[in-house]
Amino acid sequence: KPNAPVLDSYWMPFTANRQFKAAPRLLASAEGMHYTSVDGRTILDGTAGLWCVNAGHGRRQIAAAVERQLSVMDFAPSFQMGHPIAFDFAERLAEIAPGPAGAKLDRVFFTGSGSESVDTALKIALAYQRSIGQGTRTRLIGRERGYHGVGFGGISVGGIVNNRRVFPQLPGSDHLRHTHDPAKNAFVKGQPEHGAELADDLERLVALHGAETIAACIVEPVAGSTGVLIPPKGYLERLRAICDKHGILLIFDEVITGFGRLGAAFATDYFGVTPDLVTTAKGLTNGAIPMGAVFANRKVHDALMHAPEGQIELFHGYTYSGHPAACAAGIATLDIYRDEGLMTRAAELQEAWHEAMHSLKGLPHVIDIRTIGLIAGIELKSRDGAPGARAYDVFVDCFERGLLIRVTGDIIAFSPPLIAERKHFGEIVSMLADALKR
Ligand code: PMP
Repeated sequence: KPNAPVLDSYWMPFTANRQFKAAPRLLASAEGMHYTSVDGRTILDGTAGLWCVNAGHGRRQIAAAVERQLSVMDFAPSFQMGHPIAFDFAERLAEIAPGPAGAKLDRVFFTGSGSESVDTALKIALAYQRSIGQGTRTRLIGRERGYHGVGFGGISVGGIVNNRRVFPQLPGSDHLRHTHDPAKNAFVKGQPEHGAELADDLERLVALHGAETIAACIVEPVAGSTGVLIPPKGYLERLRAICDKHGILLIFDEVITGFGRLGAAFATDYFGVTPDLVTTAKGLTNGAIPMGAVFANRKVHDALMHAPEGQIELFHGYTYSGHPAACAAGIATLDIYRDEGLMTRAAELQEAWHEAMHSLKGLPHVIDIRTIGLIAGIELKSRDGAPGARAYDVFVDCFERGLLIRVTGDIIAFSPPLIAERKHFGEIVSMLADALKR
């Protein structure tokens, strides 16, 4: 085949490696809503790359901003010095930061990815607790079926057993259990009215371990990578209240939900529940340059930054924190989101999206359909004895037909770019329906 590369030396992400090399699929270019494969086929992007290309592919404005910045200054360290573009980007982010006016999380720490953002937020939480004399609070709580990247902090609080299996975890980390209990599995029923009390599972962990041992609780407002789990109404409010009652910091991992995915800039705003820290990446730069950012409220920021000399407990930062080219990409991305109204576009499209996705009801193997904002999860019945095999077959079939979907286990996830039009929803439904029938 033309352009066929040698496939032996490149070690891909472990879970993708074998399947990919058995049947290589190679993407060569991207524009707007579409990829083009190396053999020249056009493929509709149903996943915004990997939940990140919110403004669509090939945005010249971002490319030009990066090129301009690289030609002015390619790199500069963020230790003991700074560069204006990082401050400019932080200011722009502070303006749209998650949280209500007057209580926005408008203190921004730059990282290089979602995993780094998670580890950064967890470290900030631990350092904050120490700085206010709560040094016994070293335990971090996550949630089963939560995904928080692949750093040691992220896998410790993450709820994917396979990701944790062979590695040691941060001592004391534990997990809310309610997303796993099939009897109580309100999370797969599409933002149900009832089920807020599932948050009380945090009280169980407080009783078990003692509040004085718990530093923070981290959740994705809507879990993405583990199959689109949407919280029941009132659940996040209740989690916030329990955290407040026991002095536990609340962290929202908005690596997926940030930057317009739900129809508001952040899930924090969509749900009207304000955590202490918010982790982001992906849509921060439209996926064009790797970058992440952690948003903190003033309480957390000030306790750390105004600690007496010698008592700052947080020694942390990356070579690429505030990378000039990534900041340039980020500013250009925010300009596009603003100028094209993309932060709220999912709210406009939500109904049509919901309708399109729910039209798949009744197709072979479909057992649940859940949507929120411009996200959807389509759960398939497992093929006996081979969990995930059917969804993988559907993925391969869709790719052949010209549609990129994401599968995790037996769940198909969609998160099209926010520039999508209604006609694209029809194309997605039609290709997926054909694949399911086959
Ligand atoms: N948190 C969440 C909620 C994510 O969805 C992801 C990536 N899918 C991450 C963290 C990790 O981000 P990255 O892959 O950029 O490290």
